[in-house]
Amino acid sequence: MQKFYRITRNAAKCKVCGMTVESKHVHDFKTCRCENQLSVDGGKCYIKRSAMNFQDIEELSTTEERDLSQEEVNKLYEEKHESWYPIDNKTNQKETV
Ligand SMILES: [Zn+2]
Repeated sequence: MQKFYRITRNAAKCKVCGMTVESKHVHDFKTCRCENQLSVDGGKCYIKRSAMNFQDIEELSTTEERDLSQEEVNKLYEEKHESWYPIDNKTNQKETV
């Protein structure tokens, strides 16, 4: 058994303009409409953020963690196309605009 996780929601809110931006697919790159330029990317595959000021963003992403065997992970992927990743590889990418 190994700990795996999947991204159930990839979203963040810009505190400057109040807009919530959500990335629903891996190349679904969304940006808010103000000078803070909050962007989210990665969908259910990875969590990527860029912004002028990270203090002005509120993280809204949710992840689910489970103890699974590799076999169970493969099965979930085949049946439901869910993307589970080993928790050791969990990364949050951040870039300043
Ligand atoms: Zn904004």
